[in-house]
Amino acid sequence: MLPINPDRLSYYFTTLCEIDSPSRGESRLSSYLQDLFTDLGAAEVFEDNSQKHTGSDCGNLIIRFTGNRPDVDSIFFNCHLDVINPCMGVKVRRIDDVFYSSGDTVLGADDKAGIAILIEVIISLLQGNIPFAPFELVFTTCEEIGLLGAKSLSPGILNSRFGYALDSTGIDNVIIGAPASYGVTAEFFGLAAHAGLRPESGISAIQLASQAITKLSLGKLDHETTANIGTITGGTATNIIPDYVRIDGEIRSHNLNTLQATIEQFRQIFQTTISNWKITNDPISSFPHIYLSFPEQYPLMNLSLESLPILHTQKAAASLSRSLQCKLAGGGSDANFFNSFGLPTAILGIGMDHVHSVNEQIKLSDMKRTAELIYTMLTL
Ligand SMILES: [Zn+2]
Repeated sequence: MLPINPDRLSYYFTTLCEIDSPSRGESRLSSYLQDLFTDLGAAEVFEDNSQKHTGSDCGNLIIRFTGNRPDVDSIFFNCHLDVINPCMGVKVRRIDDVFYSSGDTVLGADDKAGIAILIEVIISLLQGNIPFAPFELVFTTCEEIGLLGAKSLSPGILNSRFGYALDSTGIDNVIIGAPASYGVTAEFFGLAAHAGLRPESGISAIQLASQAITKLSLGKLDHETTANIGTITGGTATNIIPDYVRIDGEIRSHNLNTLQATIEQFRQIFQTTISNWKITNDPISSFPHIYLSFPEQYPLMNLSLESLPILHTQKAAASLSRSLQCKLAGGGSDANFFNSFGLPTAILGIGMDHVHSVNEQIKLSDMKRTAELIYTMLTL
């Protein structure tokens, strides 16, 4: 029997959920955790300077425990401090084994369940006087608004060579891969004119954008690639031919070659739409024109089954007579950036469910199960 204490885990989980921590407003939660881990005897507790890049009211929070097993490698564990909206004034309800919000906010198990699990593991280790590996905690800001905290982290801050993000749904699973994602922004510049009096002088940016969009392949492009146009903005009035439209979307893929090829295909469709207009109407006109950009949103995550985090967690699971299922994720998370820094990082399923909704929930028994796994990883 491992000494994980469900009542204490429940207490910390509830307490964390009820501390407001919206994206860019994580400082109250960070302060609470700094006090807690200092009291628990952490060797180092500090924030980095990432707020100047993220716009948060605090930096990423780093905590180091030296452990008492100098013979083994340090491991890092990552959770994000921020919670997706609506997240202000969370009141946790517990019915038997399951935690819910009161229905008008999210619960915040994403990602405070991860933080509570780590707190419980650490207290159990310290109270039991058990030899454990050195480890680091990396609590990032602004994950929910574009992984901004992880993106701005200096990986040199960490001593560990590999780690885990406690930030996935399901239980007894480990995420080994996640797609890369690039944004798609196309700005069409046409010419404005009165739609009733001088329509021949106008060039409709809306019409050009529509022509291009109908030619794009969208949705599920293959088993590992998706594309979407999510917003269209432009136009001023029903009687004015619109001279500007902006469309925004994204392309994600587990395959970087397919991703680059899809970007090129999109670029060509957009540019051909403009050149076709010119060929048909006015080859020397400086309008219409287009501005395109495809900014990287997050890099690819692709861990081998032989990588350190996978081998280590599988070994811990086996010693608990469990098996972990390796899975691919459909979206990016902080782990994408950690992996791109050269720090192999797997994502553990911690049992949270219906995340990013007011129906979010998590079972205490699943949190306990994850705590046992992490306890074992640190004491193997
Ligand atoms: Zn999350």
